[in-house]
Amino acid sequence: MISVYIHIPFCLAKCLYCDFPSTAAEKNIYHKYISALRQEIKLKHQQLGSLFVDTVYFGGGTPSLLPAEYITEILTALNSLFYICADAEITLEANPGTVNLPKLAALKQSGVNRLSFGVQSTQNILLKNLGRIHTFEDAKKAVNAAKKADFSNISLDLMYGLPHQTLVMLQESTNWILHQNIQHVSIYGLQVEDGTPFAEMQKAGTLHLPDEDAVETMYDYVTDILPHYGFHRYEIANFAKKGFESRHNTGYWQDKPYIGLGCAAHSYYNSKRTYNTHDLYEYIRSCNNGIIPVFTEEIIDSKAWMEEFSFLALRTAQGINKNSFQENFHRDIHTVYGKNITELLSQKLLAENTTHLFLTPLGMKLGNAVFEKFLL
Ligand code: SF4
Repeated sequence: MISVYIHIPFCLAKCLYCDFPSTAAEKNIYHKYISALRQEIKLKHQQLGSLFVDTVYFGGGTPSLLPAEYITEILTALNSLFYICADAEITLEANPGTVNLPKLAALKQSGVNRLSFGVQSTQNILLKNLGRIHTFEDAKKAVNAAKKADFSNISLDLMYGLPHQTLVMLQESTNWILHQNIQHVSIYGLQVEDGTPFAEMQKAGTLHLPDEDAVETMYDYVTDILPHYGFHRYEIANFAKKGFESRHNTGYWQDKPYIGLGCAAHSYYNSKRTYNTHDLYEYIRSCNNGIIPVFTEEIIDSKAWMEEFSFLALRTAQGINKNSFQENFHRDIHTVYGKNITELLSQKLLAENTTHLFLTPLGMKLGNAVFEKFLL
């Protein structure tokens, strides 16, 4: 059983904070890209044989920018060589400014059964500051259309710590999300990444971000209120109604293997992580020449595996299963990380029960300080 991630590297315009591998490419490249993806599916099949697929995730970029027929084409190609399970979770990331009812209905028809909308905020001024192409009105229409198209597994993204954002603005956005009768919420604190227009603005002193205390208050507000409305926190940044946790992302945190297809996608199986080229044209050329478009690979040795296994599991509410650690590495987790675990327990960043080690609410807030203690 394997998960499949499919990267769609196109956006209508580049948001000012974004360092994801995506480009505002001409539409005439879409067809060539889909053909290349189909080639890559064949190449991966030659390498791995037929596997059962239990989750598929179209991420980006903006997968919803593609006509629905292309999504159908990819899923059909995947299913002809691999076996997509009848109850597979098939997620598509969507920008609210790129969908309407007919498109969403066609996506549902193609097999997509989970939508993740990048709503981010309900204030148009904040969306504009981020360089988003959608408005709050688009988000309202998109969520309503998704429900009309019979989607019953909808996730909305919410951002905090945005330029000029106040707590009241975040409360308004959160309140709207809480009343949409949706199943999942992901929260993101804005990070200013090198190489983005926001990084330039920060250097120039023209990016007006809320101060650290204000951002912390926003974080506290949103992480506190979501569970009151039935969204339990199952991972640091993810909240779901019971039974609607993202199966695909949970697979990453549980250290399960996955295949990444597309430009800039990466894969993880057979103790190896491989990275596809970020260059769109090289990706297309390579696939068309029958060569897997990998530009680098990394062997995950037992030390790296132990580290990754630990800090990925720590991201989840359940935390590290101590028996699974013992089974994988033939060592008790306390013999490996004993001193650090004791320290984190005493700082109340980590908690422990008979089966698991897991982050406390404070540990979730200061996640990186904990994760670094699991580097060997
Ligand atoms: S829509 Fe998403 S992937 Fe595209 S530029 Fe904006 S943040 Fe980046």
